[in-house]
Amino acid sequence: MLISFIYLYCLTDGRSIGTAYTQGVGSLFYLEYYLITWVMKKEKKCSKCDKIKGLSEFYKHRTKSNGVYSQCKVCQEKAKKAYYRTKKGLFVLIYHNQISSSVQRNHPRPNYTMLELREFGLSTPKFLVLYKKWVESGYDKELTPSFDRKDDYKPYTLDNLQVMIWGENDKKGSDDRRNGINNKMNKAVVGEYISTGKKESYHSMTEAERQTSVDHRYISKCCSGESESAGGYYWKLKNNINDRFKTR
Ligand SMILES: [Zn+2]
Repeated sequence: MLISFIYLYCLTDGRSIGTAYTQGVGSLFYLEYYLITWVMKKEKKCSKCDKIKGLSEFYKHRTKSNGVYSQCKVCQEKAKKAYYRTKKGLFVLIYHNQISSSVQRNHPRPNYTMLELREFGLSTPKFLVLYKKWVESGYDKELTPSFDRKDDYKPYTLDNLQVMIWGENDKKGSDDRRNGINNKMNKAVVGEYISTGKKESYHSMTEAERQTSVDHRYISKCCSGESESAGGYYWKLKNNINDRFKTR
């Protein structure tokens, strides 16, 4: 508005205000209107923190005004974090992790719903104890209660679930892999000792390294075809063994 009046004052310059108005201000109001709507399209006030932020500071949402959520990304992330710390939200997180883990490992999805998982979890005394400890720790990530499968080779079913904390879960995973209980993440390899032609299979490259003292990185290079042999062995991935060894 202010610039409109300044502009109007300059325009009068001996002429009547009426003339100046018709000549200049009409179009100036339009310009202001255009500028304001342009700025509004680029910026938005967050409904939570009340800060005016650029549209890129908001997550996109097709059907909302301006095509973004009413809360900014920072506020949404904060809310999400707080939700996942509630008992209700934690089970949403656990359930989604179980689904993505099933998909990743080509396993069937959990045969229970998220609500069934929550009901099961909330009636597990150990879960309640671990949840309380987690809250008391100030939500230490390592102490986040989680549900893992007792037997990693079986899919997610309620009777194959055990409650543990994330730190334990990670450790169990790597212990199981090292001990060959869980080979899902490992690539089983076969080493053919060149001088004798004797073949031996190992559940992982690191296990092969432990048994033969050949560096697992060299074993990997052989498996990918980068090198011919390592440590006096030909190395092949076990699941490729049929097509790879017969070429020799
Ligand atoms: Zn905000």
